[in-house]
Amino acid sequence: MQQSAKVLIDGPSELMFDYLVPETMQILPGCRVRVPLRSRDSTGTVIDIGPPPQTNFALRQISALIDPEPLITPKLMQLGKWIANYYVAPLEQVMRALLPESVRQDAHSEKTRKVASLTAMPEADELEKMAKRAPKQHIILKLLQANGGTMSLKELGGGSVSAAVKSLEKKGHLQLIEEAVRRNPDEDQEFLETTPLNLNPEQKQALDQITTPKTNQSGTPKPILLHGVTGSGKTEVYLQAVQHTLDQGKSALVLIPEISLTPQTVQRFKSRFASLQDQVAVLHSHLSQGERFDEWHRIRNGEARIVIGARSAIFAPLTNLGIIIVDEEHENTYKQETAPRYHGRDIAVLRAHFEKATVVLGSATPSLESFQNTQSGKYELIRLTQRADSQAMPIMRVLDMRIEAQKQKGRVAILSDRLRVSMEKKLKQGEQIILFLNRRGFARSLQCPPCGHVCECQHCAIPLTYHRTEERLICHMCGYQALPPKKCPSCGDEAIRLQGFGTQKVEEVIQKVFPQARMARIDADTMRRKNALRDTLNKFKAHKIDIIIGTQMIAKGLHFPNVTLVGILNADLGLHVPDFRAGERTFQLLTQVAGRAGRGELEGEVIVQTFTPHSPSIQFARHHDFDGYAEQELQFRNQFVYPPFSHCALLGTRSTHERRAEFTLENLHKRLQKDLPPQIEIGEPMPSPLTRAHGQFRYQLMLKSTSARALHQHVQRTLAATPPPEDVTIIFDMDALGFF
Ligand code: ADP
Ligand code: ZN
Repeated sequence: MQQSAKVLIDGPSELMFDYLVPETMQILPGCRVRVPLRSRDSTGTVIDIGPPPQTNFALRQISALIDPEPLITPKLMQLGKWIANYYVAPLEQVMRALLPESVRQDAHSEKTRKVASLTAMPEADELEKMAKRAPKQHIILKLLQANGGTMSLKELGGGSVSAAVKSLEKKGHLQLIEEAVRRNPDEDQEFLETTPLNLNPEQKQALDQITTPKTNQSGTPKPILLHGVTGSGKTEVYLQAVQHTLDQGKSALVLIPEISLTPQTVQRFKSRFASLQDQVAVLHSHLSQGERFDEWHRIRNGEARIVIGARSAIFAPLTNLGIIIVDEEHENTYKQETAPRYHGRDIAVLRAHFEKATVVLGSATPSLESFQNTQSGKYELIRLTQRADSQAMPIMRVLDMRIEAQKQKGRVAILSDRLRVSMEKKLKQGEQIILFLNRRGFARSLQCPPCGHVCECQHCAIPLTYHRTEERLICHMCGYQALPPKKCPSCGDEAIRLQGFGTQKVEEVIQKVFPQARMARIDADTMRRKNALRDTLNKFKAHKIDIIIGTQMIAKGLHFPNVTLVGILNADLGLHVPDFRAGERTFQLLTQVAGRAGRGELEGEVIVQTFTPHSPSIQFARHHDFDGYAEQELQFRNQFVYPPFSHCALLGTRSTHERRAEFTLENLHKRLQKDLPPQIEIGEPMPSPLTRAHGQFRYQLMLKSTSARALHQHVQRTLAATPPPEDVTIIFDMDALGFF
């Protein structure tokens, strides 16, 4: 029977249509084809092949096959189908993620340049005459002769010589050729090659385990979790593992959380492999469409064998993949926030499995998902317990802000006496300071300053969120509602209040206390300008800034030897958000931020201000005790059946009409409850904590399941049977990391 193909049409409107495949045509998914579209011809990519769909009108035929080699490798096609299924996303949406728009569009094809190539030098006497009558032509020929016979028009002088070059071409002395050039984003940068460091015994063992990994029954290497404390030299291990992979004739893929926030990591890779410049491709969001096109094709045709990039680089079309490294594997930025909402780390593990490659997940603070996989035997655990340069871990002091609040008469203190005194001392000694405040916008919980009590949901053990419009406390997991108490339920004090102050306020206060100090604020508001972050960090490095006040943007990957004091202003802010991962994130953040202190000769000190000094995530971070933390947190997760012991997903509706968003979700809720598999639990529909964004009202409900398959299949079935009204958008986030 004749087959039909789904074809994703090139161009920004991203249309997808079915076409019949001519019986003589050999076509694979991923192939590029020419198809009729309305009254013209168009190009596109084959996404899927199967029996023709039932339609009332005749399908048209594919007119031609452009290139028989599929653009997307078969393994990536397989990965794409898995993603569409697991994350309940349309296949065409996944294919768009797999194949960048610039690659799908012919508009951004190869860039060319004109090159002059010497064909015959004139006789000596003719050359002499030319020197007098046409000096320009004479110079051009001499230049070409001195430079091996070929030079680009630009090198010869560009537009000013084009007439002379044309005459020379007419006379038969040279030939003008169009030549393809690669648009190199790093053209103006030089990288000094670095040599491999001598590994310490722990690093050496880690490298051995990575290069000769244990395999499971099917012969695929077992995924590896590399847990190394901050500054333990994980990056050096990655570099040597990549070298080993290249030596074996294979290619390597390195994922990092965010290119713009981790310039130092990219530099280190570029420098180590400086002699292989042409084989390294860095994929980041600042590439122009043309650059992206070139890099993609360099990877697809095997020229580039090392790829470094953020989340979406997981789809780089490398063949013969030997290793995938996921640096800072615990980072949330690996989760895509628009459909398909895949997790880059999880897809890395899956892709490695499909391609029989080694996968290394590295972090100083592994996610509990990955850690639990080492406990259950699915992953191998490798550890680096010491700092590579044998520096000590920084000393961490925890300050009880309840006492501080009493001292300052109930006002919420921003700067404790202890931190102020320490700052004074460091500034006097000419050392540098980082102040950290993890302010998360609208999520505000109710907390009692004298006793530290936070109002929590009795069903979910997470803080309730105050909604101003309804004057209610609402649980963002299950929808439970309560009236805000007038007095603290724990100690009876009437000072219970909404907590929260931001970086801007801190800057104001610090400026008053230390008018002489040079300071900079780093947050989403101040770092809008391109390169603003890099410039500020460079200034800090050159010690033109004494104090940096910042949010998560400064938490990772920074290495400043002169920073001897890190102040964490309110460790509770990240702790009392309505999310069962709040404790885990606080532990990670404190550990990572603290890791910025004492990375040079000088000893580092970290001061943590908190209203809940006995909170486990703070205490375990203080003692640099990941294992202790993981053990007790996993117990809590197990008890409430949270991930990694289940899968949590978020189902949401968005609409400019509030009632319709609400009604659609209630309707979905009802249908989900029909034939509900026993592994799945469904929460109540409720307004999202962020009730309205971009003019759209948002409603949501939580789903929890001990079986991922049961969950995505049930949701898939329900959504397929319940098309939403036209003005409502449905969002499904499998393995959701945020609940807003
Ligand atoms: P991590 O990535 O684990 O935080 P880094 O790779 O940044 O750690 O290493 C911290 C510092 O230690 C870097 O300055 C690095 O150059 C240095 N380093 C790493 N390995 C070694 C080694 N084997 N010998 C000496 N210095 C090392
Ligand atoms: Zn609840």
